[in-house]
Amino acid sequence: MQLLDGKALATQIKTEIAAEVARMVANGAPKPHLAAILVGNDSASETYVAHKVKACQEVGFDSTLIRLSEQTTEAELLDYIAQLNNDPQIDGFIVQLPLPPAINPDNVTLAIDYRKDVDGFHPVNVGRMVQGLPCFLPATPFGIVELLRRNQIETAGKHCVVVGRSNIVGKPVSMMLAQNSPTANCTVTLCHSRTRNLAAYTRQADILIAALGKPEFVTADMVKQGAVIIDVGTTRVPDPSKKSGYRLAGDVKFDEVAPLCSYITPYQVA
Ligand code: NAP
Repeated sequence: MQLLDGKALATQIKTEIAAEVARMVANGAPKPHLAAILVGNDSASETYVAHKVKACQEVGFDSTLIRLSEQTTEAELLDYIAQLNNDPQIDGFIVQLPLPPAINPDNVTLAIDYRKDVDGFHPVNVGRMVQGLPCFLPATPFGIVELLRRNQIETAGKHCVVVGRSNIVGKPVSMMLAQNSPTANCTVTLCHSRTRNLAAYTRQADILIAALGKPEFVTADMVKQGAVIIDVGTTRVPDPSKKSGYRLAGDVKFDEVAPLCSYITPYQVA
């Protein structure tokens, strides 16, 4: 069994991007500039946005963080989005999800200019992704494809079973791995909470992607010997031994599943 080290890969990719940015800037181009809008005080969102700002620094991007209060109305947020859409200094931006309940996330996604939609959630980018055209790809699914590709894990002709059909992870990664492309060409089965006899599908998986947000849901009896396991789950579970009072739990019962696998992502322990 080999661990798929996403953190090491992220460091490598950031080094590559930093070199590309340095080349661009040396040739007279402005630094890429990413903006992020954070509405409210969701602590996980605070962490994610802080990581994005830090990543910008590491690769040589400029970054702007716009913090808005929990009481921000949808109209006010749409106004900020329009400003970023029209700001020639901003190359791309994200609106961190989830949003406060009073704001409809679909209206927000639609309001972002698809040419600046670096999260790849706008229907134009989703449609282009489905058609295999150049577009912004959503980060987690693209990360999974890169994790497989850069670890030279064969995907062509493999049966990939994805558990979870969210617009952010399950659906896009299913579509990306089903593309007619050297980094895909999987036969994909997309499972969800209404799938009957889920284990009958997961046991067929050469590549199993668990993205359902249910800690330790995938157990040894659900996995085929030699499978590649990608555990996307990051659920906060109470843990009094941690300073934060919680730990992040994956969707796969690592200890019993890992010995069966050819490759597996490490269990979340942060
Ligand atoms: P989500 O929107 O909560 O969707 C969960 C999906 O799992 C739904 O499609 C749901 O089915 C399905 N599901 C729930 N219970 C199930 C069950 N018992 N059997 C089969 N399917 C079941 O999830 P998400 O936003 O994709 O997130 C999933 C997990 O990944 C979470 O832990 C999240 O924190 C994590 N995540 C990690 C990253 C990362 O970069 N590492 C990024 C995003 C999300 P229905 O559609 O039928 O309800």
